[in-house]
Amino acid sequence: MTVTRSTDRADQLAALLPGAELDVLLVTDLVNVRYLTGYTGSNGLALIGTDLRAFVTDFRYLEQAAAEIDPSFDRHRGERELLAGLAELFPSGELRMGFEEANLSFRKHRQLRDVLPDRVELVPVDGLVERLRQVKDSSEVARIREAARVADAAFAELLEEGLIGRTEQDVAFALFEKMHRHGGDRPSFDTRVAAGTHGALPHAMPRDREIGRRELVVVDWGVQLDGYCSDCTRTLAAGEPGAAETEVYAIVLEAQLTALRAIRAGVGAREIDSAARDVITAAGYGEYFGHSVGHGVGLAIHEGPTLRQRSDAALRAANVVTVEPGIYLAGRFGVRIEDLLIVTEQGSEILTSIGKELTTVG
Ligand code: ZN
Ligand code: ZN
Repeated sequence: MTVTRSTDRADQLAALLPGAELDVLLVTDLVNVRYLTGYTGSNGLALIGTDLRAFVTDFRYLEQAAAEIDPSFDRHRGERELLAGLAELFPSGELRMGFEEANLSFRKHRQLRDVLPDRVELVPVDGLVERLRQVKDSSEVARIREAARVADAAFAELLEEGLIGRTEQDVAFALFEKMHRHGGDRPSFDTRVAAGTHGALPHAMPRDREIGRRELVVVDWGVQLDGYCSDCTRTLAAGEPGAAETEVYAIVLEAQLTALRAIRAGVGAREIDSAARDVITAAGYGEYFGHSVGHGVGLAIHEGPTLRQRSDAALRAANVVTVEPGIYLAGRFGVRIEDLLIVTEQGSEILTSIGKELTTVG
């Protein structure tokens, strides 16, 4: 697989280091390593400084690394315990090295302190590479777009097969199999299929229980393609829906459409959340919408920016985010509607192509 622009990415990261008062960043989060170098294996790290592009893996991954890694990086063979040989890779003199505090365990931090000379100061860093990942380049957008297309195609086939009488697990597995057949690599997270009262649990796992008539069914699924994820939710009616279900569905849909209309580069993440939340609150269901309205999607299924009240961030062009309000009525049913979209200067481009009117399936 060729990885485009990873040289640029490492350069962009190096350009951020002086502002963070760092000489070098040690990248141990494997998603970040992949983003910067192209490496897709499960043991590797990168060191990036102004003039430093080093990658370390152990003997099991040498060939893979040779094939995948951007040529701007010097490749090094380390022990399986990669931190052990790190000291040799450092330029001379005193320097401040950032490490990814969300990824490096306490034990590894201690090990790092032991192997590095005192002239290297260890500085915890939060989300530097993640900040770069929030703005997608064209090759990333192309992969996410294709992942969304695969997920949509699989779902369309699922609808033709019906839901009533099948177990939640059967439906989840069928969706997985269809995504695979349409070219997806693997699900981007465990497919959720939640019928009836189970739908009131936002992260319900599919059960070995048949979907009944007159139940709403929340289906949340996504697929990975070349590492990039898609994410979508639809709520379906298995047989004719009741009046309460229809009413709540209409409120969630209005909330979702209102939030979508509010999206464009420069708008605060909090404002998008409020746009949806205000509709749901005005309808009297505010307390039943307990999660944030959306999240970024890329190499990880959940990444920045998060569209929530506790955010001061503004959307930027080429962010890829979800908008997914929901209403969850414990003991009764749940509704969530989620689209995946690219933020643009003028608004957004929605990558999900599936209709959002309440669809009745037999
Ligand atoms: Zn989802
Ligand atoms: Zn989501």
